[in-house]
Amino acid sequence: MNIQANDPKITSWVTVSKDSDFPIQNIPFGIAMPPEKGPRVATIIGDQVVDLLTAYDLGLFEGVAIKREVLAERYINDLMALGKNACRAVRNRISVFMRSDDTLGAKSHADRLLHKVSDCELLLPVKVGDYTDFYSSKEHATNVGTMFRDPENALLPNWKHLPVGYHGRASSIVVSGTPVHRPVGQTMPPDADQPVFGPCKLMDFELEMGFVVGKDSKLGHRISTEDAEDYIFGMVLFNDWSARDIQKWEYVPLGPFLAKSFASTISPWVVTLDALEPFRTKGPEQDPEVLPYLKYKGEKNYDLELEVTIRTEGGKEKTVCNSNFKYMYWNMCQQLAHHTVNGCNFKVGDMCASGTISGKSRDSFGSMLELSWKGTRPIEMPDGTERKFLKDGDTVLLRGFGKGENGYRIGFGEAAGKVLPAVLPEE
Ligand code: CA
Repeated sequence: MNIQANDPKITSWVTVSKDSDFPIQNIPFGIAMPPEKGPRVATIIGDQVVDLLTAYDLGLFEGVAIKREVLAERYINDLMALGKNACRAVRNRISVFMRSDDTLGAKSHADRLLHKVSDCELLLPVKVGDYTDFYSSKEHATNVGTMFRDPENALLPNWKHLPVGYHGRASSIVVSGTPVHRPVGQTMPPDADQPVFGPCKLMDFELEMGFVVGKDSKLGHRISTEDAEDYIFGMVLFNDWSARDIQKWEYVPLGPFLAKSFASTISPWVVTLDALEPFRTKGPEQDPEVLPYLKYKGEKNYDLELEVTIRTEGGKEKTVCNSNFKYMYWNMCQQLAHHTVNGCNFKVGDMCASGTISGKSRDSFGSMLELSWKGTRPIEMPDGTERKFLKDGDTVLLRGFGKGENGYRIGFGEAAGKVLPAVLPEE
């Protein structure tokens, strides 16, 4: 597919450093509050937020089929609902007025159009209706099965036949920068015969990516793997915070509940599937052969480097995990086809997360559970402390990007969240 805004030769009149996630080829969508202004749809180039509502008022979208009110919304849902072609036209137009040979005169309005990202508040970009979490990394599922069940039969019998998932909680999805309190709940300590109540002791992150649905489907209608990309607007980084001790006690037989629903953190910019086009790659071979409704043609995985960094209270950082989205066994199109094969419908703003993305090597595991192997291999931190799981005061930062031609990269910024102490119920 030839997408004009993806042309690697284009440069912007905004200075973009080489290691920026946001060259002019990215043009993600989000919601920003510039100083003394209300929420509005925005994009980012380099470290400059581009106010798209002001761009509209300056006439920069003349001839593009978009209404002013869509850009004045609190969420990007109505923008996504315009459809892929309309959003492509918006992205292409931004590329035109932000490129070096700007013919529309945008640069002369830079003081109104641009705001340093550090001066803006970035809000949750999507009003998430429903959220589903998959479990689609074979390495992660194998690690967890090995630790908790049987190394010989680490994957359960269904795992290679369908993308396993569960319905998560949409209301507690928060934007990067929102602190997260350590949850409290019931756990069954080892060797105890009664559950105890108190703060989670095994607080964890999960390195995931989420996709955002940008098109409604009808109840009773199935989305095929071939059509799935029409429904997937874009992607974000996704930290599925997890309370392992609560999870262990509560998850039988219906799966995770309170161990997951207290918070999930996403990155503030939704990177369009269009912008990720150059990073398509083949997925792992699926053996045994999947059922016909899960078969697909073409390259449906994406080569996106992912990392997790922990920043301790004193400000020292350590990158504890380097992984890649391409390791996913089940791709997003298969996930969507499976999710709707029973007739379940999707709505604009629904979100699906990948499941923890682990690679083969120990330093590519996407959770503390796996990195510390259930607490048996502590990780040394630069301040001299060690981590089996997360401590209060730790900030977890997810980052991710694809490396493009000409050295540019298309990235997601970060999904950051600080762990705050538990808040106990009053006696
Ligand atoms: Ca998860």
